[in-house]
Amino acid sequence: MDGLWTLYLDRVVGPMASPGAFPTREREAQALRLDGHMDTTDLALLRRAGPITANPVEAIRSWLPEFTALRCDLHAHPETGFEVHRTAALVAGKLAAWGIEVHRGIGRTGVVGVLRNGPGPRIGLRADMDALDLTEANGFAHASRVPGRMHACGHDGHTTMLLATARYLAATRRFQGTVVFIFQPAEEGQGGAQAMIADGLFERFPCDRIYALHNWPGMPVGHFGIATGPVMAGCAFFDIGVQGRGGHGARPENTVDPVVIGAQIVGSLQAVIARNLPAQEAAVLSVTGFDAGNAYNIIPDRVALRGTVRAFSTEVMAMMEGRIRSLAAGIAGGHGAQVDIAFREVTTPLVNDEIPSNIAAAAARDLVGPGRVERDLAPSVIGEDFAAMLDKVPGAFVLVGNGEAGVPELHSPHYDFNDAAIPYGAGLLAATVERELRAED
Ligand SMILES: [Zn+2]
Ligand SMILES: [Zn+2]
Repeated sequence: MDGLWTLYLDRVVGPMASPGAFPTREREAQALRLDGHMDTTDLALLRRAGPITANPVEAIRSWLPEFTALRCDLHAHPETGFEVHRTAALVAGKLAAWGIEVHRGIGRTGVVGVLRNGPGPRIGLRADMDALDLTEANGFAHASRVPGRMHACGHDGHTTMLLATARYLAATRRFQGTVVFIFQPAEEGQGGAQAMIADGLFERFPCDRIYALHNWPGMPVGHFGIATGPVMAGCAFFDIGVQGRGGHGARPENTVDPVVIGAQIVGSLQAVIARNLPAQEAAVLSVTGFDAGNAYNIIPDRVALRGTVRAFSTEVMAMMEGRIRSLAAGIAGGHGAQVDIAFREVTTPLVNDEIPSNIAAAAARDLVGPGRVERDLAPSVIGEDFAAMLDKVPGAFVLVGNGEAGVPELHSPHYDFNDAAIPYGAGLLAATVERELRAED
């Protein structure tokens, strides 16, 4: 075979393709030349080229060098929060090149791709694109080129996996219905999911079910964690201001001392979980800040407390908010002080619905066998804003192995996404869509 055609087979179709499936080889090669480059993104060529293996992990693995290069490029150019302009442009360009309808600027810098293949249900697949404010400690060639920013949560890998899924589904179209590819900004505590929802995400691009992935250090590559029920904790932050009446440290009888009141509130909050939750429920309440006076002989007017709570159900979150409010108000009131309390939810608890988690698990078992699909995962206290999307549309959040125990944790300056996981994560999303939107034979 001539060089161009060999390259096309290797890079576009993959080594498993049958050469006999290419009746118009000259025309295809000419089209590639007319196209002026050897980009592997020509959807029409892909579709005319013939069968791609029905196992999406194997098909996507044949594209691994290209997607590894893409992932390393994203890793080297991390962007944070809503400022993911370069990443969003790259995503939009790839989707468009593969013939997928692209919508930009949803939730400021979010990107949505729509792939229709006849009538049928609509499945949403979501990836996050943002990095963290962290200085990378790695020295490899694809380390961050932006001081103080780093892809330390693997969202570079999530974006790459969803792109690989999009390309596979666009090329193969072994489904009936619509796939909505959702690339969101600002997952790391800045409300990117909520911003896309508020911008009409699910009104403009209705989804019957949604799925997302997160890489999981400590779980071997090629393994999946798919729980039914709680997966990630909800997270909230609180502030409590105690307004007393300051004065001389030697004459407390003339003051309303907010330091003593604040200390009593801190002590009482320790009983919220211990005395209100059944033993089999889990939650966390931590007071993490106590700002008071700064002199030896002055009782301040005011103290400010702050902290965080984590829980796995909205009921427990609501219970904790209620107890924090009533204890703080009761203790301050009992001493004649005023109290102001702010409680803000950062993420709701992430809870996988039963049917979609079973569908994802069945797809995973098909790909890697039942021994590599963990269904009984202990929920994590890490927060994840995909929970906000799951509050609107039933779905599941799947953990993808990123390497055995001992690899750096998420948010570590030594972390790196494991590119060997790309075919598994991308393949699972593709297999889930094919299972959800099974085409009539
Ligand atoms: Zn993170
Ligand atoms: Zn993350």
